[in-house]
Amino acid sequence: MTQIAYLNGRYVPRAQARVRTEDRGYQFGDGVYEVIPVHAGRLIAAERHFDRLGRSLGELRIAWPMKRAALEIIAREVIARNGIQQGGVYIQVTRGVAPRDHKFPQNPVTPGLFVSAKRTRPMPAALLRDGAAIITVPDQRWGRCDIKSLNLLPNVLAKQAAAEQGAHEAWLVDKDGNVTEGSSTSAWIVTAEGVLATRPNGNEILPGVTRAIVVDVVHDLGLKLELRPFSLAEAHRAREAFLTSTNNYVLPITRIDGRPVGDGKPGPTAQRLRAAYLAATDRPPS
Ligand code: PLP
Repeated sequence: MTQIAYLNGRYVPRAQARVRTEDRGYQFGDGVYEVIPVHAGRLIAAERHFDRLGRSLGELRIAWPMKRAALEIIAREVIARNGIQQGGVYIQVTRGVAPRDHKFPQNPVTPGLFVSAKRTRPMPAALLRDGAAIITVPDQRWGRCDIKSLNLLPNVLAKQAAAEQGAHEAWLVDKDGNVTEGSSTSAWIVTAEGVLATRPNGNEILPGVTRAIVVDVVHDLGLKLELRPFSLAEAHRAREAFLTSTNNYVLPITRIDGRPVGDGKPGPTAQRLRAAYLAATDRPPS
């Protein structure tokens, strides 16, 4: 089936979608994006994702490419046109097309908009059974990681390093030895005392939508949670570690830099939170 995308005002076969070379997203990474999960053909946690998109746009002073409600309709239309039941929608907004010059275009230009959708396969059973192995790398990103910008080079290099070492993800470690987050996931531990810890939202991390929903779930379940940075040393001593993201849901981590976490098996807290997170977002266990 031909994949259909939405690009700057038109639904087009995805393979024929073309952007201008002077789109500032292409030349400067001057834009933002969102990935919204789809289950049973429906957007999951759409409000939170569109809120975050609005925030990212606002922080970079890029206008909404159209009214938010219209963009939501386009996202749903792209899902429908591609017959996606299980997957995600990708939304990218750039500052627009203008002659190359670092500063914003003098005369306002129309933001560039691209929307596509893709199917995802269920997570491999072995990954869920055994948990994920991760590596750690220095966090080399800029000072506004809370903006979901197109500038992903440090994240790309971190994920590539993980792949080359047979790991699922790379955790990023700041200059104080604290874990900020993963290259495309939020980072959590369960301490030796059984308390959950994840870094508070701030300029150093992306405010993960999955993370926010899991924080709510943690409160509903009456578990103890500390929103604070944790060090890599503490993660090595932790009872459990796990990551959260749109694509991974809640995924237990069983090895960090080759060393087992806890007893080296997926932890009960992470498994319970995965089930509770899926239930909270109206999805079956998986
Ligand atoms: N942190 C980073 C750097 C990310 O890129 C992502 C997702 O793309 C996340 C965390 C997880 O965010 P979410 O739960 O909204 O997918």
